[in-house]
Amino acid sequence: MNNFRLKLQQFGARLLSGIQHFMAGRYGMDKLNMAILWTGVIASLLSAMIRVQPLNLIFWGLSYVLMILSIFRILSRNTYKRYQENRKFLQFFDRIKDRQHRYFDCPKCRQMVRVPRGKGKIAITCPRCKEKFVKKT
Ligand SMILES: [Zn+2]
Repeated sequence: MNNFRLKLQQFGARLLSGIQHFMAGRYGMDKLNMAILWTGVIASLLSAMIRVQPLNLIFWGLSYVLMILSIFRILSRNTYKRYQENRKFLQFFDRIKDRQHRYFDCPKCRQMVRVPRGKGKIAITCPRCKEKFVKKT
């Protein structure tokens, strides 16, 4: 019995080091992946609940696409690109939550410019390329 437990422990340790070796240099989990996974789980639940023909198939397909996408991102070796995706995703939610400001992209250089909300029409000067543009806040 003790021998069996020892074997099991050894197997567990080998499995763990194998996983660690496999995951070395790969991206792993982030908030964007959590969101993708949860959306996938919800889509899969919806596909099981909804009885309308084309709609449940769409949710079923969507749940598979999302889960494959999140596995791809976890195993990806292009960590810089994955990190940028996650950063953009978090930035997008920060923008939605921010009720004090409005965000615009500079028409010339695409730099994001933050201005206070509710000031009417204002002239904005891009901090990067000094391009001037008028926007309603
Ligand atoms: Zn600019």
